[in-house]
Amino acid sequence: MKSRFIKTAVLLLCAAVFISCSAKDGQKPKQPQEGKFNIAVSSYVPYTLAKSVLGNAANLTLLIPPGTEAHAFEPSPKTIKEVKQAQIFFYTSNHLEPWALKIDPRAIMLTQNLPQVLPGDPHVWMSFDNAETMAKNLADSVIKTRPVLQAEIKQNLASFSDEIKTLKQAYFQVMPTCKNRTIYHVGHLAFGYIAHNYNLKFKALISADMDQEPSAKEIAEIVKAIKENEVKYIFSEEQLNPALAHTIAEETGAEILMLNTIEGITKEEFADGKTYQQLMLDNLKNIAVGLDCKG
Ligand SMILES: [Zn+2]
Repeated sequence: MKSRFIKTAVLLLCAAVFISCSAKDGQKPKQPQEGKFNIAVSSYVPYTLAKSVLGNAANLTLLIPPGTEAHAFEPSPKTIKEVKQAQIFFYTSNHLEPWALKIDPRAIMLTQNLPQVLPGDPHVWMSFDNAETMAKNLADSVIKTRPVLQAEIKQNLASFSDEIKTLKQAYFQVMPTCKNRTIYHVGHLAFGYIAHNYNLKFKALISADMDQEPSAKEIAEIVKAIKENEVKYIFSEEQLNPALAHTIAEETGAEILMLNTIEGITKEEFADGKTYQQLMLDNLKNIAVGLDCKG
């Protein structure tokens, strides 16, 4: 049964962005254009935050293309050219994008003033407070470069904060009601902040940096734990090869639900113009099903 808190959040978010939440806007990756205010962003996290804060005030170029895994990305000559053509280049962190400052010493890191809550976990945007700070950092930098945009950006930032407030409320209402408290994730350790903030346990097969394949022993251990705890739902990610999740699902009889890391995005999600807010709401919906939560 769907939580009424999630339903309320869906309605409020759809109203806030003045669109149907299922509407496709058919957005396509953009190149920098001469004469425009060009901003380059590393991954989908700064991209979606910039979209929310800037609207159409800038021409945004996403450097890590949709469908590409963010942790393993290496800049190409095309990436370097795109950054050179941009007036501002935003990236998440030196942990996630160690290449950013190397290709542009002017690059602005959006996580520079965040508290170090989970050292070693670069997925800081999974905390709503952090996402809000990142959006504010982005807004401040753009206003400094283009003061004429100040009023428009401040208004967008206020709407973004309202949507985050709605999401936070939905998470705080739903999470304590979950009968099961452990997420078994056939994916990487990208949701540590959700586990930390809402008192859940998170068992992931792959490390936070995605630098190692899971061993046969680790796979056997998670299969054993899923069977012993009679887990009905396991989680995975769109960006990963689905073969391992399907094998584990077959072996255990569990069903697969998806979680979205937001750092990477499929081509379809990009074309749909999925926002941070929508993707985090999708994550809550799936967690609510998988952990048997009520509202
Ligand atoms: Zn990641």
